Amino acid sequence: MKIAVIGSGYVGLVSGTCLADFGHSVVCVDKDPAKIAALQAGRMPIYEPGLDALVAENVRQERLSFATDLAPAVAEAEAVFIAVGTPSRRGDGFADLSYVFAAAREIAAALTGFTVVVTKSTVPVGTGDEVERIIRETNPGAEVAVVSNPEFLREGAAIEDFKRPDRIVIGAEDPRGAAVMGEVYRPLYLNAAPILYTDRRTAELTKYAANAFLATKITFINEMADLCEQVGANVQQVARGIGLDNRIGSKFLHAGPGYGGSCFPKDTLALVKTAQDAGTPVRLVETVVSVNDQRKRAMARKVILACGGSVRGKTIAILGLTFKPNTDDMRDAPALSIITGLQDGGARIRAYDPEGMEAARPLLSDVTYASDAYDCAQGADAVVIVTEWNAFRALDFARLATLMAAPVMVDLRNVYTPDEATRHGFRYAGIGGRREL
Ligand code: NAD
Repeated sequence: MKIAVIGSGYVGLVSGTCLADFGHSVVCVDKDPAKIAALQAGRMPIYEPGLDALVAENVRQERLSFATDLAPAVAEAEAVFIAVGTPSRRGDGFADLSYVFAAAREIAAALTGFTVVVTKSTVPVGTGDEVERIIRETNPGAEVAVVSNPEFLREGAAIEDFKRPDRIVIGAEDPRGAAVMGEVYRPLYLNAAPILYTDRRTAELTKYAANAFLATKITFINEMADLCEQVGANVQQVARGIGLDNRIGSKFLHAGPGYGGSCFPKDTLALVKTAQDAGTPVRLVETVVSVNDQRKRAMARKVILACGGSVRGKTIAILGLTFKPNTDDMRDAPALSIITGLQDGGARIRAYDPEGMEAARPLLSDVTYASDAYDCAQGADAVVIVTEWNAFRALDFARLATLMAAPVMVDLRNVYTPDEATRHGFRYAGIGGRREL
């Protein structure tokens, strides 16, 4: 099957590459010429484990190519995926759909023959109706079915998630659209991936409901962590104690500095706005959004407390900048609020991240970037683990202590146990445990 993917970011590039790997003939389009030039030269514009090899193999097999011009790819395609960004709109938090609608207009003008236009971007309920309206208005003769097929992949495990999804959701109003989508995903039948066929609005809302539920689960355990600290309980054991219950499940029960990244913050906010507009506010999600926002800044206060109540003139070493390991994505990373909070308190910041420093530079000022964890800890009054990269999971405490001005560790991911750290002479603060400091 011939497929065009519009937008070659984290989702478009991974989806397009995996679809090519299924045997389809795929053109990944992006309007950013630098991104396409890099891909054509075999360089990945993002960090995603395993992606470079999979791209190279499918380019070699001539199933995958890259272009800045959408028209030829769309004219040939039987299915066109829209995978452009849907960030929060500045000011009001609604999803900014301008990229999706612009792509719909461009696609409409280039359509030939019956084509399925698939919205893979995360879009609010009713966006598919508007995409269809735009296409029919721009090109009244177009033969088109507009389908919703939200993406559930996680950065850092994106290829595995795309190839072995827990489920595929297809929202189609036109049976021809559903049939073509069945063909697109046919290679996955072997993996027994359940396909949920539904209507377009239900598919659109399912994506937001999934992200809001996961964000709620994280926020729930984060609040339990705060309670544990106050009452002398251990949140990791509470999480294990509840997670072993099959009705609850153990995933997404790791207390930490608050959720971040390119999806949960913007999608929870967009759902809140959609629900308010529909006259049925989702108060639980509204609370999750506000609890999580406050939590990121509260993590800076936790560090300040660990440093004796003030960080003025002190050097803080930040280990990990991305919102989770195995990505270079810095969008809405908790590290941004934590670092700004510490700088507001007068701290000097040294930081190290294995993949995220390039993306972090334009978002942060007055940060000294280090070459590894130990370089980062040089002269620091405290080291703060913000992201649980493998590189931070077996630190040499003795070496750290000799480099630092004071042996203080704030471990926002509970990578270490208090006993481990204190045994090496560190003053230690984790999340949701007994207070050691
Ligand atoms: P991204 O910002 O990494 O990529 C979007 C790309 O689209 C950019 O490269 C941009 O240049 C390109 N683009 C924009 N308008 C275009 C146009 N008219 N023609 C061609 N290219 C165009 O975004 P992303 O993280 O891949 O997210 C895309 C969508 O997928 C969003 O709606 C997001 O919510 C959703 N999503 C993301 C993830 C994730 O983990 N990143 C997971 C599931 C769903």
